[in-house]
Amino acid sequence: MVGVMLEDSGFLKNKFASDDKSMRLGEFIAEQSPILLDGAMGTELAAAGFEMGGHNCLTHPDQVFAIHKKYSEAGCDLLITNTLTMNRIYIKTHGLDVDVKAVNLAGAELAVSAAQPGQFVLGDISSTGHMLEPYGEFTEKQFFDTFREQAEYLKVGGVDGFIIETIFDLREALCAVRACQDTGTLPVIASLTFQTAENGGRTMMGNSAREIALTLADAGVSAVGVNCGEINPHETTRIVESMSGAVDLPILVQPNAGLPKLVAGHTTFSMAPGEFLQVIAACLQAGANLVGGCCGTTPEHIQYIAEFLGHMKAHPTKALV
Ligand SMILES: [Zn+2]
Repeated sequence: MVGVMLEDSGFLKNKFASDDKSMRLGEFIAEQSPILLDGAMGTELAAAGFEMGGHNCLTHPDQVFAIHKKYSEAGCDLLITNTLTMNRIYIKTHGLDVDVKAVNLAGAELAVSAAQPGQFVLGDISSTGHMLEPYGEFTEKQFFDTFREQAEYLKVGGVDGFIIETIFDLREALCAVRACQDTGTLPVIASLTFQTAENGGRTMMGNSAREIALTLADAGVSAVGVNCGEINPHETTRIVESMSGAVDLPILVQPNAGLPKLVAGHTTFSMAPGEFLQVIAACLQAGANLVGGCCGTTPEHIQYIAEFLGHMKAHPTKALV
């Protein structure tokens, strides 16, 4: 009788489905290397003539879906939702007319529907755009609550895990990690943005790559890494080395396609796929396990890496020369 009742319980069915999902991505991250992530969404939207941002999930869903689809077809393993700053604090304080629930549900569903069998979707979470006390007005509790709300909607929308990225404050990243973990068992990846590769790699707040890796490993993330920023992409290897030397966790790297340049009032990134592939190959040698692209990267950049990784698997001793 008890058995029948349990089988009929929707709660338990959901719980098993969710556990199974988190286990699959958790195992994939822990066991596979290298893993390929997608490239930029924002600069691809801008290139197509749209204003960058998560609101496009509601206003131009077909366009967001089309970009996800291109990355999916380029051969990546992980797709990232277009929900970067779609948390309540950012939306409210930037005067955006966007519904937190609707945009995160739509963001998750668009990426999930573009993913092919074997591809996973990470719910994207980034900064509130504000500082914590004493530098700013917000408390850790307020940051936790805003990330907790966003993470819940992404989870309901069907993501397989979370990525916290493009964030330069380790304390803010920790609020987001804890908020994601509070939603259940989905894996959480955390990636910080660095200001310099000098001095052990430093964020704007002064935290070193080593300190960040150790702190986030302690917090229970599935992978730790570096993305975006204004450092020369070729120097990203130094941050990867520091992190992989500090912790026994998969290391993620998503460099920009070159340094940002202002051309005719627009920020542009000019590194061609071939040179970007050299950056990624150097990061793999430095210890990176999850690789992808941030600002300025395109489906073509990701396809170059996918082909390179395919070649590496076929000729393991030759590919990295
Ligand atoms: Zn970026």
